[in-house]
Amino acid sequence: MEPEEILPRQSFNSMKIMVDQAPAMPHEDEPSLDKNSASAEHEHWMGEAILQARIAAEQGEVPVGAVLIEAGKLIGSGFNQPIMRHDATAHAEIVALRAASVSKQNYRLPATILYVTIEPCTMCVGALIHARVDLLVFGAREPRAGAVVSQNKLLDSQHYNHKLSYVEGVLAAQCSTLVQAFFKAKRGVNRRAD
Ligand SMILES: [Zn+2]
Repeated sequence: MEPEEILPRQSFNSMKIMVDQAPAMPHEDEPSLDKNSASAEHEHWMGEAILQARIAAEQGEVPVGAVLIEAGKLIGSGFNQPIMRHDATAHAEIVALRAASVSKQNYRLPATILYVTIEPCTMCVGALIHARVDLLVFGAREPRAGAVVSQNKLLDSQHYNHKLSYVEGVLAAQCSTLVQAFFKAKRGVNRRAD
């Protein structure tokens, strides 16, 4: 039965607006990009992102790591490195996207999953959309600058021409512990220097 047959005109109009603004639902038979499937796979790749974050910590950079996966294969990885690169854009996500784009010889990276240990910032969410990444999986929230669920909810915006799904909380405790330990150690060093 068509909605206009059972609802008065005004109700139908408001319902139509709701439907138009609703996010596109993933198709039932979409392979491996379902939000709720493959949690073991999510943990495996988040483990790889955590290894990248550890490299950042060893270099004195805030420990955030990322890997980009296509069809079950790692095609790019990166750790946060703005200080050593003299580059404000050298966040883990951007470094991983650049590496994958060079290896694929393509600035667009469709049908890929980006794993990152910490909720992305505004810049990195923008880069993921530009690169046409399909799914973002992040570990811990970033209450101060996170642009997915914390300070902004950019992926819920309807005006982008690419829809990116996300999953959060994969190995979140490990991901946030790395950052907390890094800043605690840094504070300790600063105190000793006083
Ligand atoms: Zn970022």
